[in-house]
Amino acid sequence: MTARYADAAPPADPGPAPTAALAAWRSLLEERWQQRLSTLTELALAYHDAEAARGSRPGDAADAETTELRRLLREATAARRALSDTEASIARLAAGSFGRCERCAGPIPTSELLAEPEARYCADCVAVSWVTLAG
Ligand SMILES: [Zn+2]
Repeated sequence: MTARYADAAPPADPGPAPTAALAAWRSLLEERWQQRLSTLTELALAYHDAEAARGSRPGDAADAETTELRRLLREATAARRALSDTEASIARLAAGSFGRCERCAGPIPTSELLAEPEARYCADCVAVSWVTLAG
C-alpha cells in the first residue's frame, strides 16, 4: 500500500515555479482579492444601512436590528481578515516565498494551494499547530 502510494505520488518539488505558473497564481489571487473586496464592501454597506435603520424602529424591531448589526459586523471582520490573507499571499508571490511553508520552508502541495491559495503552512505544520493548541 505504501509502495503503491509512493508510485502514485507527484514528482519531488522541482524548485522555484516557472514564470508562467507564477502568473497563473497571481491572476487567481487577484481574482480572489477582487471577490473578497466586493464581499467586504457589500457587508460594510449593509452594516451602514442596518445601523441607519436601527434608530427609527421601536422595541422588538430594534432588538432584531441589533442582532443583525452584530452578525454583519462579525461577517465584515471575517471578510476583512480573508482579504488581508489574500493580500499576504500576493506579497509572498512577489517576494518569491509563495507556496513555501512559513514554519518549515517545505513546499505546500499544489492541490492544497488550489483549494486555499492563502495557505501559509504545509499540512504537517498545520497538524503540529493543532496538536500544540489542543495540548
Ligand atoms: Zn511546514
